[in-house]
Amino acid sequence: MSDLVEERNRMVDEQIAGRGVRDPRVLAAFRKVQRHEFMPAALEAQAYGDHAMPIGEGQTISQPYIVALMTEMLGLTGTERVLEIGTGSGYQAAILAELCEKVFTVERIKPLADRARQTLDRLGYTKVALKIFDGTYGWKEMSPFDVIIVTAASPDVPQPLVEQLKDGGRLVIPVGDRYSQDLVKVVKTDKGVVRTLSVPVVFVPLIGAYGWKE
Ligand code: SAM
Repeated sequence: MSDLVEERNRMVDEQIAGRGVRDPRVLAAFRKVQRHEFMPAALEAQAYGDHAMPIGEGQTISQPYIVALMTEMLGLTGTERVLEIGTGSGYQAAILAELCEKVFTVERIKPLADRARQTLDRLGYTKVALKIFDGTYGWKEMSPFDVIIVTAASPDVPQPLVEQLKDGGRLVIPVGDRYSQDLVKVVKTDKGVVRTLSVPVVFVPLIGAYGWKE
């Protein structure tokens, strides 16, 4: 399949910039990363549609706009160490890799993790480290992180993730019940943790010790 540049630019203009995402570095990353490379082969042609898509194992690659909105909420400048929980296809990890110093991503389902690793390697994303694990524990050996992003829905903010954030660090996570959540941004300050709410979203569940039970 060709590079699909036109489809990708239309996705950015209409779905992402068109809905208010402004950070020029974020927009450039979405123009660059070849989303179709992260899709199952049979669905590549739908890679630039305005919706989440199945990636196997009952999981999804999120709607492009939501990936972009969450990425913008992280406020990346290029110097950060970022932890992602929920590698899925590896697409969000590749976007993060365009925008920060180093990405650590954790996935609990081995076939998805293996496929994401292959895709990331094929596309040259060497700054992404991947681990198969229950990401609700974070990745303690590699902590602290400037930024954490959780791309699955949690009943609350897992405490290990807050502990593994640097002072001044920020975390973005969908919090709510199994069927609907709000995006929550957590900023760790010397006076404690400050939470702000963003838009309503629907994510697959975060399954683990500090998430939902299987
Ligand atoms: N960020 C992904 C992408 O760009 O394709 C999409 C993530 S998908 C919406 C959510 C992912 O979180 C699934 O792949 C799921 O297996 C994973 N997940 C759920 N609970 C997890 C946990 N405790 N630790 C790590 N990954 C988890």
